[in-house]
Amino acid sequence: MPGRVLSVASECVPLLKTGGLADVVGALPKALAEHGWQMRVLMPGYPGLVTRLGKPRTLWKDKDLFGGPAKLLAGGVEGLDILLLDAPHLYDRPGGPYGGPGGDHADNDVRFAALSWVAARIAREGLKDGWRPQVLHAHDWQAGFAPAYLRYGLETDVKTVITIHNIAFQGNTDAKRLSALRLPKDRFTPDGLEYYGHLSSLKAALVTADAITTVSPTYARELMREEFGMGLQGVLAQRSNAVTGILNGVDTDVWSPETDPAIHPYSARKLSDKKKNRAALIKEFGLGYFEGPLAVLVSRLTTQKGIDLIPETLSEFTWRGGALIVLGSGDPTLEAAMQREAKLNPSRIAVKIGYDEALSHRLFAGGDAVLVPSRFEPCGLTQMYGLRYGTVPLVAATGGLADTVIDANPAALAASTATGVVFHPTDGLGLSQALRRLTELYADKRVWAKLQRNGMKAPLDWSQSSGQYAALYETLLA
Ligand code: ADP
Repeated sequence: MPGRVLSVASECVPLLKTGGLADVVGALPKALAEHGWQMRVLMPGYPGLVTRLGKPRTLWKDKDLFGGPAKLLAGGVEGLDILLLDAPHLYDRPGGPYGGPGGDHADNDVRFAALSWVAARIAREGLKDGWRPQVLHAHDWQAGFAPAYLRYGLETDVKTVITIHNIAFQGNTDAKRLSALRLPKDRFTPDGLEYYGHLSSLKAALVTADAITTVSPTYARELMREEFGMGLQGVLAQRSNAVTGILNGVDTDVWSPETDPAIHPYSARKLSDKKKNRAALIKEFGLGYFEGPLAVLVSRLTTQKGIDLIPETLSEFTWRGGALIVLGSGDPTLEAAMQREAKLNPSRIAVKIGYDEALSHRLFAGGDAVLVPSRFEPCGLTQMYGLRYGTVPLVAATGGLADTVIDANPAALAASTATGVVFHPTDGLGLSQALRRLTELYADKRVWAKLQRNGMKAPLDWSQSSGQYAALYETLLA
């Protein structure tokens, strides 16, 4: 019975990416096509994107979409069926998709309410080319009002799914914005749109969507607890029957060491070729000689990612022979802290502040280990890239990290299932001890190669998870 899904999100690879959300939104259509589902992706027409559509078709127009004219442009990009919401008053401005150096755009509520509104209209009325989805799949707070519009005013038979990629971002705004955002006042109640006296687009989705998913089974359980739910744990617990955790997959067209154009290719059978990537990295970053593991970190530099725990562990790690290369950007204090470390020990620690896709590939290929010491991690992709590239992940025991990495304890080593180092609790001491274990494992070349090969064999592509999404859609429509 497979059919049609409208996927709604604020970013999508290859058009625009700030994090894992974009990887997932860009990978799902291909993965679901294997199960017979046709997925179109609706996203904002940020500057420069329209030209990527080639010769787009205009499928819908509005003279006044929340304060200005808008049109919906359809086209193909690298095999994806993209619908761009071209609304210059909302999206044509300098900076990133959510804000600029001065902070978030002040009108983000309306910018993404508009995206959600158009999604709901497509679900209700269909498009000029005759296409109408049976399922609307909203991602994160930016698409959160879409299920709410469909529940409160634009009712249809279309089923709705909200996927939580990170509950820390909730799309909170002032309750006074209700009517400006085209939401009904009479639904501003605790079991409806109200969120502690405010509005939250994520909460709106959690109470109105037919199904709720999040990006790993462990995170799905964690979210119902106070430490992780960030205020929404009660709402989620109430809807626990509607909640499923479906692990993200890796887009193996993009992330495979055998075919990656950004690196010297290698495979699990010929791991010796991985060394060329390591040597190239050491040269590129001007590191000196060291005997221990070369750790890499590709991440937003935030406390969520546990970056603040790293500096206190580095003198011991480098004393034990390790080295570290960091690629990331984020919190200015953490950027400065990492740069300070590199200055103190430039032959062992290198830091590049910024976002660089090609360099991230070189790091996953050339590193011995990838660090992911997150305090919470809905799924996490970099540990999975590490697994695929034979770059042993060192991760905190949380969310998707716990679901994808098997700790190298004696039993798992004996059973040949270990793939990395998993530590708990997520504090400086925990990370220090984990790094010590990592250097010990690295020193035993046979054990290390086994860890690498086990990781490279792990089934991380989308085949299993896309089947779970397909089954969910089918259940909703049955
Ligand atoms: P999150 O979405 O919370 O930032 P994920 O691990 O789910 O974390 O996804 C992060 C994605 O962004 C990965 O694909 C990672 O490789 C990429 N990434 C993060 N920081 C950078 C950077 N500075 N340069 C290039 N890629 C980055």
